Amino acid sequence: MIAENDFSVVKNVFSSYLEENGLRRTPERFAILEQIYDSKEHFDVDSLYVKMKNENFRVSRATVYNTIEVLLDCNLIRKHQFGDDKAHYEKSFFYRQHDHIILTDTQEVVEFCDPRIEAIKKTIEEVFNITVDSHSLYFYGTRNTETKENQSAKS
Ligand SMILES: [Zn+2]
Repeated sequence: MIAENDFSVVKNVFSSYLEENGLRRTPERFAILEQIYDSKEHFDVDSLYVKMKNENFRVSRATVYNTIEVLLDCNLIRKHQFGDDKAHYEKSFFYRQHDHIILTDTQEVVEFCDPRIEAIKKTIEEVFNITVDSHSLYFYGTRNTETKENQSAKS
């Protein structure tokens, strides 16, 4: 069993992928990977670039964008569209499948995991005789401000 925080495993996956695809294994690419795996947050590419710049990493915006594409191709990150026009990303290796609720008034993103979604996936695979490689499911909503007591007091 692999330790959840064993970054060297992730690094090896990336390193092999770069080699197999004839891409250069530059320190910048590994620094970007490490930055992503150090954080628990969802992020967009520009914020990642700004964060790295503020921490004095010498990477160009083009390198960050390019590396994000490579990381998507080798499944080390997942891409999300949370409702605004910017794409958001998060690390995916070691991290359980989960889905997202987007609060459209605050832009807050809430993660949840429900085993019934896995059950739906299995049913679909059997019924249609296919293999599901991935899925995307987003619930959009707003938080209820009134408590249950308030609502029953009104009625
Ligand atoms: Zn997430």
